[in-house]
Amino acid sequence: MERVCAVSGQKFEITDEDLRFYEKIAGEVGGVPVPSLCPNERGRRRWAWRGKELCMRDCDKCGENVMSWFPPELGRAGFESAGLVTYCDECFRAEEFDALEYGREFDFERPFFEQFFEMARQVPRHISNSINNVNSEYIISSHRNKNCYFMDELDYCWDCYFGYNIQHSKNIVESIFVRDSEIGYDLAKAENCYAVFCSHNVFHCSDSAFLMNCRGCKKCLFCANLRQKEYHILNRPVSKEEFENVWKEIFCGRRSALEDARRRFAEFLKDQSFPAGILIKTEESSGNYLSNCKNVKDSYWVDNCKDCRYCTDIHFSRDCYDVNIYEGEMLYECIHAGPKGYGQICSQLAWFSSDVWYCLELRSCRDLFGCAGLKNQQYCILNRQYSKDEYFDLRARIVEHMRETGEWGEFFPIEYSPYPYNVTMAQRFHPLSREEVVGRGWKWLDEEDAVVGESRGEVPDDFGSIEDLDEFSQRVFVCAESGKKFKFVKAELKFYKQYGLPLPVVAPTVRIEGMWKKMGERRLRECVCSDCGEVVSTTFGEDFEGKILCEKCYLKVVW
Ligand SMILES: [Zn+2]
Ligand SMILES: [Zn+2]
Repeated sequence: MERVCAVSGQKFEITDEDLRFYEKIAGEVGGVPVPSLCPNERGRRRWAWRGKELCMRDCDKCGENVMSWFPPELGRAGFESAGLVTYCDECFRAEEFDALEYGREFDFERPFFEQFFEMARQVPRHISNSINNVNSEYIISSHRNKNCYFMDELDYCWDCYFGYNIQHSKNIVESIFVRDSEIGYDLAKAENCYAVFCSHNVFHCSDSAFLMNCRGCKKCLFCANLRQKEYHILNRPVSKEEFENVWKEIFCGRRSALEDARRRFAEFLKDQSFPAGILIKTEESSGNYLSNCKNVKDSYWVDNCKDCRYCTDIHFSRDCYDVNIYEGEMLYECIHAGPKGYGQICSQLAWFSSDVWYCLELRSCRDLFGCAGLKNQQYCILNRQYSKDEYFDLRARIVEHMRETGEWGEFFPIEYSPYPYNVTMAQRFHPLSREEVVGRGWKWLDEEDAVVGESRGEVPDDFGSIEDLDEFSQRVFVCAESGKKFKFVKAELKFYKQYGLPLPVVAPTVRIEGMWKKMGERRLRECVCSDCGEVVSTTFGEDFEGKILCEKCYLKVVW
């Protein structure tokens, strides 16, 4: 079956398997209708609800200024319409914050979204989605970390600075998608690594740098597609002495040395082969960066999942369609589902909750519809308590009402998001210009002006000569790219010094954007295997110059 997207006008297919899912999810009310938007526009709509900036904002209850994923302007002058109220963790968790007091009756004369957001905009939101962290005030959407700084999506980590999506790791700096690793810098997709620098897609590697698509390598430099090798440079064996000499030249603390090494690696990669996609122990699946998956289609950055489609950044999940971030079962159109979500539909941040539809920010709830900010509740609609029978009866009638208004099965519209579009992950994955955003009737947040007239690139080149880190961490620098002011934190300075790394010349936010660029697109296109000519799906763009290989041909290269 083919559909035409109501926004983009693009055609998209709906398979029999999709139809079975749409019938099964919310089966007790007759399922959800087939989507009216193409997968791309559906993704945009969800991501527009997830902030990407790390900001400082006041708690609306106690006034404390804390790190937040909501910019300070929202809900205040110029952005009153977002109607955002935010509580710090302590105030959000406090007994006296009971969101049932915002409860109201459903009005069948009006559309659902209008009523829901009239209420939800008054219910306080958790300011950062960060809890149980120690000495880590400047992180968002992170849990159980110690001594971490300027991170997003970080769990069970120590001493990590600047990055996104790091778990169970220690001493990782300027990296993205890292798990179970220790000492790392400039990593993109690394697992079980130790002391690895400037590398991409590396598993079980140690004491190495400038690796691409390597597994089980030790003491390797400028290598690609190697398996279980030791003392290699440019994919050729070298002596221990030669390896150590080259290493010392690169990691001497001078920026020019590291930049030369980056150029050398980029040159080397031009002649290397690349797998069309990174699909590890994966069956009947499509997308990129999938591991231990079965029947996971059109998905990215997914591990240990089964029977999912149009998902990204989820793990240990099954029966999910259109879900970005985290974990659960029987989920549809959610962003930040779970942890341990079950039967969540069109919801965000419903922790440990099941059978919750059109809900925001819940803790351990069941059987809720159109609720926000509730903890340990059951059988509520628009934050009002009902008996079990009343609940199921009213829910069924509201779903029918929403079928008539065209709202049922649709995620929260972007115009109700508290965020201006350009400060959300939507701008990262589905970028639009200011004119396009305003033209679609959405909000845009103008950035503070860059510092003009001050000298740039004043960060010293030879870091080894800096003795007093305390004094140095007080100094203000101007970002060589954005022109914004920034400082170094002492912990990062120590890390650079210990591993012979130069000081970055750009602000942390610019570094983070640079990391994302390495991760490539989250969109498949067809291309031809450079060796056998078979048609394969890849996320490499049209302009990618390297050799792209199908799985069969790639395996011949690495083994
Ligand atoms: Zn507070
Ligand atoms: Zn091939």
